[in-house]
Amino acid sequence: MVKKRVECRDCRYFKRAPYEAPRTGCWFPEFMQQTQKDAFLKEQEIPGDNEQINLRGDCAKFEARTPRGSIWKRMLAGEF
Ligand code: SF4
Repeated sequence: MVKKRVECRDCRYFKRAPYEAPRTGCWFPEFMQQTQKDAFLKEQEIPGDNEQINLRGDCAKFEARTPRGSIWKRMLAGEF
């Protein structure tokens, strides 16, 4: 059976700097190069190199991003 290739950009653990995270990469906890326990040190965290981890497009930890609801639904849910 041919398994579909997974793309990091569709994965919920992939975050891009500067809007989603301080550094671009894979933020799956086990793949991160450096993690911090204390919230005030979160800026120092280093994500994993997603290109290396998912080189063959077969990352086992891939999880699809959940689609964002409409702006009205998000506003009513108190996101703003
Ligand atoms: S390496 Fe895996 S877990 Fe990390 S962003 Fe890519 S698909 Fe997601």
